[in-house]
Amino acid sequence: MRALKLVDTNRLELREVPVPEPGPGQVRVKIAGAGLCHSDVTIMAAGAEGSPFHGITIGHEGAGHVDALGTGVTAVREGQPVIIDLLWSCGHCRQCVQGRSNACQVNGTRWMFPTTPGLGPDGTMADYLVADVRHVVPLDGGPLPALDPHGIAPLADAAVTPMHAINTVRGRLDGGATVVVIGLGGLGHMALQILRAVGAARIIAVDANPAKVEQATRLGADLALLADDQTAARILDETEGFGADVVFDFAGVDATVDLATKTVAPEGHLRLAGLGGGSFAYTLNGVNAVPWGVTVQTSYGGTRADLDEVVALARRGLIHVETTDYRLDDYAKAFADLEAGTLPGRAILVP
Ligand SMILES: [Zn+2]
Ligand SMILES: [Zn+2]
Repeated sequence: MRALKLVDTNRLELREVPVPEPGPGQVRVKIAGAGLCHSDVTIMAAGAEGSPFHGITIGHEGAGHVDALGTGVTAVREGQPVIIDLLWSCGHCRQCVQGRSNACQVNGTRWMFPTTPGLGPDGTMADYLVADVRHVVPLDGGPLPALDPHGIAPLADAAVTPMHAINTVRGRLDGGATVVVIGLGGLGHMALQILRAVGAARIIAVDANPAKVEQATRLGADLALLADDQTAARILDETEGFGADVVFDFAGVDATVDLATKTVAPEGHLRLAGLGGGSFAYTLNGVNAVPWGVTVQTSYGGTRADLDEVVALARRGLIHVETTDYRLDDYAKAFADLEAGTLPGRAILVP
């Protein structure tokens, strides 16, 4: 089969490798679509020999059909459509059983996220992937319509990551609230739809790209703003000078963290989910302080419960992924378009 391998710093190669066999408790999935994420670009920079990422098959968003069952597997059937969980946490440590499986203490460390396909085990940009059966989620069965796995792989990360951040502030999304979503790429475009589906808050969307701003109202924003040096003042105007109840930053560069900090209300929530390398500087009071009572939380991925919820929202037709398809062997073009930042939504590699 073909697998997209990280063979050196910023160098990918589509190579022929043996089809993996599922062991006991595992399934093999025939990939129908794999999503491209900015994290893939970050990992590619660490592809040199000696790095833990050297030689891996990349891709951490994937969905497809169950193709073969290892011994003892009864939870899924051959041919069943499934999505692959982003984080392969242990399921039984204290963090996992208390609902923080995205911070699993057995398969992750204080600074290292839990085991993730495409960032350790071979990932989704290949014809097939093998995973423990508990790390795949069926896309059919029960009363809801089934999902076609082609085109929905980004639910595993681009939707789960905002779902997790949003679930930390669900009680704040009442009809009188205002939330701000900064960064309308893969994660942000899903966040708008999830916020619309699960809460009544007014949504203000912000991006520096006019095409993404234009798309935002269609995806659920009440007001979409093209970022400039007046954006913070405009958001404060829109909130009677008080600020927004919740500000999500899905870019995470200095300018967006700054905008988030300048527009959050007292007792509001800053949710910094973008990994753009920005810094968050604050003082306890004085000039660079955030307003009283503000909570600040970063996030990595989400839990299995967050994944189950986004799958349910998608099966009900309440959220959908905006995608552009590329053939697996056309990966170079897909990555070039991702890095150019012009893609609306998510690029999908189709084996
Ligand atoms: Zn990702
Ligand atoms: Zn665990």
